[in-house]
Amino acid sequence: MTGKKRILSGMRSTNDRLHIGNLEGALRNWIELQDEYEMYCMVADWHVLTDHTEHMDIAHNSREIAKDFVAAGLDPSKCAVFRQSDVKEHAELHLLLSMVAGLGKLERVPTYKEKRDEARSEGQVSYGLLGYPVLQAADILLYKPYGVPVGKDQAAHLELSREIARSFNAKFGDVFPEFVDIIPEDESRSKVPGLDVDAEGRLRKMSKSYDNCIYLSETADETAQRIKGAFTTPTKIRKTDPGIPEGCSVCQLLRLYAPEWESLWEQDRRGERGCMQNKQALTEALNEALRPMRERRAGISDADIESVLEKGAARARETAAQTMDQVRRAMRLL
Ligand code: ATP
Ligand code: MG
Repeated sequence: MTGKKRILSGMRSTNDRLHIGNLEGALRNWIELQDEYEMYCMVADWHVLTDHTEHMDIAHNSREIAKDFVAAGLDPSKCAVFRQSDVKEHAELHLLLSMVAGLGKLERVPTYKEKRDEARSEGQVSYGLLGYPVLQAADILLYKPYGVPVGKDQAAHLELSREIARSFNAKFGDVFPEFVDIIPEDESRSKVPGLDVDAEGRLRKMSKSYDNCIYLSETADETAQRIKGAFTTPTKIRKTDPGIPEGCSVCQLLRLYAPEWESLWEQDRRGERGCMQNKQALTEALNEALRPMRERRAGISDADIESVLEKGAARARETAAQTMDQVRRAMRLL
């Protein structure tokens, strides 16, 4: 396509909207990199099935996630926005990589172990779930990228993809170059906290599975409502009580969206500001930051996004086909 270095990343369409953790941890980097790199931005729909086989409209979700990508600032004329299942090479490479991916390593993946331990019967744990990291390795390696921009929670999975690539190269020759992780350096972006706390009272990552999110496409009123219920310093009952911004989800998010966050944190610490004031400031700053995306998103129809995805898949297929040719030759299938 171009002489530029390549970047690939993706998000699963397990629901129909992205949250500000996805935006700050990954999508923001994609948008910044799209001019400099040849970018592939994937909606990973097959990945949804690895742990969600209950009724879910994956096709609808995928379109909505792609709308969020474009509304947030990905420009389909610069980068390939595509759906995983439109590029069948992902399935072929998954199959071939499964011949070199070590079973022991896959069985030790924490997310797999957790789900296996939670399962009440053997039938609840699928072969597809165990193979999730192999599919992810295929998604990445198919594009032989220079780098993969993701949030910090993905670092271990990317390491596994690199190991699978090394095993392949050792057996069949150097097809896959090493890629780098592109993770925001600042922890407030690489791991955006959600609006609630875990059982021990600690902030935990914003995640659609916990529904502790601010969603890009929700209304300004919905955002205000969610922030009203957000976790703040539990010992700060009155405005004059000292706050602990490090452990307060509202203060953490203010750091991302309010340019004057440092002075707000100081006032919070000194008991010069109350939690309600912080919530008000966050609501205003966030709704202002998300407004242009929300407006753009309202103008994108299903037909518009299908056409973006079709064009994106055509570009992705071109690159994927070249890699598969090399893979088939290396494995002596051709
Ligand atoms: P799920 O609960 O289904 O795992 P999720 O909310 O964690 O969903 P993913 O689709 O797994 O979202 O992640 C998509 C991308 O967003 C990945 O690159 C991931 O690292 C990043 N990401 C997810 N949550 C956060 C977060 N709280 N902070 C920073 N980055 C995040
Ligand atoms: Mg996740």
